[in-house]
Amino acid sequence: MSGSRLEKILLNDLSRASKDFGLIEPNDRIMVGISGGKDSYTLLHLLRQVQRKCGFPLSIFAVTLDQGHPGFPGHVIQEWMDANGYEFHMVRRDTYSIVQEKIPAGKTTCSLCSRLRRGILYDVAVELGATKIALGHHRDDIVETLLLNLFYSGQLKAMPPRLRSDDGRNTVIRPLAYCAEEQIIEFAEEMKFPIIPCDLCGSQPNAQRQQVKRLVAQLHELNPNVKGNMLAAIGNVRPTHLLDPKLRELYGVDRIEAADESLVALGGSDDDALGGGCAHPATEPAPVPLRVLGQA
Ligand code: SF4
Repeated sequence: MSGSRLEKILLNDLSRASKDFGLIEPNDRIMVGISGGKDSYTLLHLLRQVQRKCGFPLSIFAVTLDQGHPGFPGHVIQEWMDANGYEFHMVRRDTYSIVQEKIPAGKTTCSLCSRLRRGILYDVAVELGATKIALGHHRDDIVETLLLNLFYSGQLKAMPPRLRSDDGRNTVIRPLAYCAEEQIIEFAEEMKFPIIPCDLCGSQPNAQRQQVKRLVAQLHELNPNVKGNMLAAIGNVRPTHLLDPKLRELYGVDRIEAADESLVALGGSDDDALGGGCAHPATEPAPVPLRVLGQA
């Protein structure tokens, strides 16, 4: 697949996400956090293409936070930004020493490290006049986060494509929300972005995230629609079919229960109401798990 074709696909996904969630708007000044990974380079490149084509005033700039990890090759990013004419700011803050001091040896440092980084980036965005902070999380990050929360934290939530910070100072956007990681990997290789390995800090990988990533990859082998189906599910929520009392109240579940009772009075059952156990087509969409498991 040629670079321009892949770029078109990714741009199309980005445009759909922007349209769906109001991510890129006239007169925005968008700050892109560049980690040196494939996702952030891809995001910056795509936003520049949007800037060229959108027909309204749009400013973008890039920021890399040098957190003081030994051997961090910030000059690689700096040189690439200079060569490609981006407005670029390298911000140096030694969060590495703080993390080393606070987290016992052998424990995962990512949680504290990323919270410190987020706080600094939020401040930098205000200082540099950004209207939004764009992060490089993509579709695969979002579905993996959904499963992580489902399996390990007892919450049904993923990652928002657009989020206002608690203090109201910043708006975070994720324009790659619809973009598939495998296409980003391929695009980054074609573009020859100067990738900086993410294990320079010496952190232990997050075991749970790695497990979930493997699980999703296995399911993807059986059915390549799995990731897309999961993303679609996040945007197609049936609050009445969940157990959250706040949602039940908000969506008037009592009314629906009354309707179910009338079905029972007519000799129906819950299964009938769901189209189960009879020859008629189900009123619910075909259940994904069967297809996930590769069954007919
Ligand atoms: S991988 Fe390293 S740099 Fe990245 S969040 Fe974890 S500790 Fe921080």
